[in-house]
Amino acid sequence: MSSTAGQVIRCRAAVAWEAGKPLVVEEIEVAPPKAMEVRVKILYTSLCHTDVYFWEAKGQTPVFPRIFGHEAGGVVESVGEGVTGLAPGDHVLPIFTGECGECAHCKSQESNMCDLLRINTDRGVMIGDGQSRFSINGKPIYHFLGTSTFSEYTVIHVGCLAKINPSAPLDKVCVVSCGISTGYGATVNVARPPKGSTVAVFGLGAVGLAAAEGARASGASRIIGVDLNPSRFEGAKKFGVNEFVNPADHKKPVQEVLAEMTNGGVDRSIECTGNINAMISAFECVHDGWGVAVLVGVPHKDAVFKTHPVNFLNERTLKGTFFGNYKPRSDIPGVVEKYMNKELELEKFITHSVTFSEINKAFDYMLQGVGLRCIIRMDG
Ligand code: NAD
Ligand code: ZN
Ligand code: ZN
Repeated sequence: MSSTAGQVIRCRAAVAWEAGKPLVVEEIEVAPPKAMEVRVKILYTSLCHTDVYFWEAKGQTPVFPRIFGHEAGGVVESVGEGVTGLAPGDHVLPIFTGECGECAHCKSQESNMCDLLRINTDRGVMIGDGQSRFSINGKPIYHFLGTSTFSEYTVIHVGCLAKINPSAPLDKVCVVSCGISTGYGATVNVARPPKGSTVAVFGLGAVGLAAAEGARASGASRIIGVDLNPSRFEGAKKFGVNEFVNPADHKKPVQEVLAEMTNGGVDRSIECTGNINAMISAFECVHDGWGVAVLVGVPHKDAVFKTHPVNFLNERTLKGTFFGNYKPRSDIPGVVEKYMNKELELEKFITHSVTFSEINKAFDYMLQGVGLRCIIRMDG
């Protein structure tokens, strides 16, 4: 038992008081975990574009004040009633979509959309009692994605924590907790490109480049990167991307450019931008007869996907996925092992590192399209 178990912990958290305003590092109170919950000491966290969308709240429901953050690594501090399988000291990755282990989805081989713990972007409280575990002078601060990792301590449902190999370096494997698993899994678990195929990846941030890495691991021979930011192209070569298209360089729609480059369309495409037009292009650029497109980007809340139905009649398939179809608790320890066995490189996704007090710099990098993942060190 740790000395803090059962006590309120006072610690630092980066609080988003208002949409689009810099986070403020504040002293907060973190309540002990209740039934089926775990309190985790976060050691490293990183920034994913999903945090930025909900912080900007331009196309998403505003929920403030809130503690963002969902890509992280930490150590269990204490566990609530009924928690089995996790104990203080265990190394864990928080996951924004959970696995209760009991529901029809958790029992299905095909789905990771747990009935109880699937992603819910608008809920700011714990599912057990509808309350927040965070407060400042007794005033509640809302949670985000059930993880809220921009805090030195956070409370998470046990079903949203993957227990990992304690010798895995948390400052590296924290990126497995969202972006890298999402992109890699979108390719290897959902798009499943046959060997020798041509794959288009829309959006060359960390998620898209992990999708490209998955295409390379699957034996794709052509990997075409599509991005509006040309500064992405040079770095993307390290991830197996061997051709590039910037939609801004062409008068015609990018799906037509891709169809011309590939004799009718790509075999697979993976969209990792969150932009609705890119989603439509990613679908319309796949080859008729067999092409499969997979949507990964988080859309604006009012976005509508529009395409002619004949694109489906012509035997194109459209899919989408959260978290690359991985089941967080069952599958993620294995993804960490892939890194440990040198089958999956993570270092090349990590381009920046800042201290916790500099967390707003990580937001600036992402807004400027600079770099891939920025690790935030909680001890600094
Ligand atoms: P990022 O900002 O690092 O990368 C996105 C890239 O897309 C940028 O390089 C940007 O220039 C490019 N882009 C934007 N609009 C484009 C367009 N219209 N055409 C071509 N390129 C365009 O973001 P990220 O952290 O890699 O996340 C990528 C997307 O994946 C985001 O929408 C994020 O919310 C989403 N996401 C989804 C899941 C999931 O489970 N489905 C998980 C994590 C992230
Ligand atoms: Zn994410
Ligand atoms: Zn479930």
